[in-house]
Amino acid sequence: MPSIVVLVILLLLTLAPVNAFAQSATALLDAVGKAMGAPVTTIQYTGTGGVYATGQSAVPGLPWPEFNLKSYTRSVNYDTASLRDEQVRTQALDPPRGGGLQPIRGEQRLTLLANVDYAWNIVGEQPVPAPITLAERQFQAWATPHGVLRAARANNATVQGRTIVFAVPNRFMLRATVGDDNLITKVDGVIPNPVVGDLPVEITYSEYRNFGGVMFPTRIREKTGGFPSLDLMVSDVRANAAVDIQAPDAVRQAANPYTRVTSQKMADGLWYLTGGTHHSVVIEMKDYVMVVEAPLNEERTVAVLAETKKLVPGKPIRYVINSHHHYDHAGGLRTFAAEGITVVTHEVNKSFFEHALAAPATVRPDMQAKAARRPTVEGVRGRLSLTDGARTVDVYHIAGNLHHDGLLMVYLPNEKLLSEADAYTPLAPDAAPPMPPSPFTVNLSDNITRLGLAVGDIAPLHGRIVPVAELQRTIGKNP
Ligand SMILES: [Zn+2]
Repeated sequence: MPSIVVLVILLLLTLAPVNAFAQSATALLDAVGKAMGAPVTTIQYTGTGGVYATGQSAVPGLPWPEFNLKSYTRSVNYDTASLRDEQVRTQALDPPRGGGLQPIRGEQRLTLLANVDYAWNIVGEQPVPAPITLAERQFQAWATPHGVLRAARANNATVQGRTIVFAVPNRFMLRATVGDDNLITKVDGVIPNPVVGDLPVEITYSEYRNFGGVMFPTRIREKTGGFPSLDLMVSDVRANAAVDIQAPDAVRQAANPYTRVTSQKMADGLWYLTGGTHHSVVIEMKDYVMVVEAPLNEERTVAVLAETKKLVPGKPIRYVINSHHHYDHAGGLRTFAAEGITVVTHEVNKSFFEHALAAPATVRPDMQAKAARRPTVEGVRGRLSLTDGARTVDVYHIAGNLHHDGLLMVYLPNEKLLSEADAYTPLAPDAAPPMPPSPFTVNLSDNITRLGLAVGDIAPLHGRIVPVAELQRTIGKNP
């Protein structure tokens, strides 16, 4: 008998191989659907646990910094391709170490949304576009167990043994493993990332329970780039409840938030480039130009490079100075590398960037994936001084800062101007200083004193230009 079955299968494969594979994919998806209690059009689950800020470790190679997840609710509507995450986070690390808006004082509430081609956050009461997060949020929606089923059917999934495989072009690739009980036990995804190209995400689903006829995991563990990014204990699940998530008009009609660059002249040959959330500084030297910081993504960097070439026509851009490796501050470096521009960073980031800036970007090929240019990365230890006889640019290590082990700042002694990221971001003019002050800011002040820098103004890479007295006020020191 078995040999006849094998023969029949072989015959079918020979006669109609494509159809036979399609049938086996459908059979497995049907079996998974039956086991999980489909059809499910919306899912809403709540829980507690830990969440980790991807790309925000204190140094490359360390795990992502952890936050307590006091509450977590994810709502997904598969019919409208939409997702809403509501998180309440509290500080886990004491002392704070790494990024992710540490230290959190009290509770931090995050509301993160996506709907088809739009991604946005709610800040205060207002929707703020966040297109940089779209691919990741769509992956998160379709990587939920019932989402895998829906997306697999919609994207011509193939089946290899007990693994379902499909891709959504420019968004993600996904492989789901089906257990013996026909429940999805694991999802391996690849999403595009501006810093590292292809970024692997691994989600394990375990301890399934029956919630009113729908099976759902009560333990969800996720790793991003090899380190934990979520560990969730699920306490409640509601299937097919009303989940109405629509991109608001303010988000649909918003201009691209990354391409708007506003330049402000600070001195001859010195400009502050703003217009978004993360800034850059352009410094003209006698024979070349350097840019301080390549934040966010390729779109931002193309706009920053265009503005730089407009401000200083005819001189080559030789260096880009990276304050630290956090992904929101390094997302433009692959684009600089594609242009053949040398990346200057702290020594602790050197090998990470040499690898990341040459890594493949297959899900969404970027300029560097196409250029395939070998990146040039220069590591700074304590200090790097660049001068053309008239202008001097000193790059210093902000030693002992808990935000990042290799945090760099740029100081122009003639102009008495300091530029830095994340050690100090100016408060709103009338805001009360935090008590106790941020240890990151106190450390920056200590470094300015240690190095004997006669700082006049600070041009921070978040916020606005302020006199150094404003920094001293923030940490409760009299100037
Ligand atoms: Zn940072």
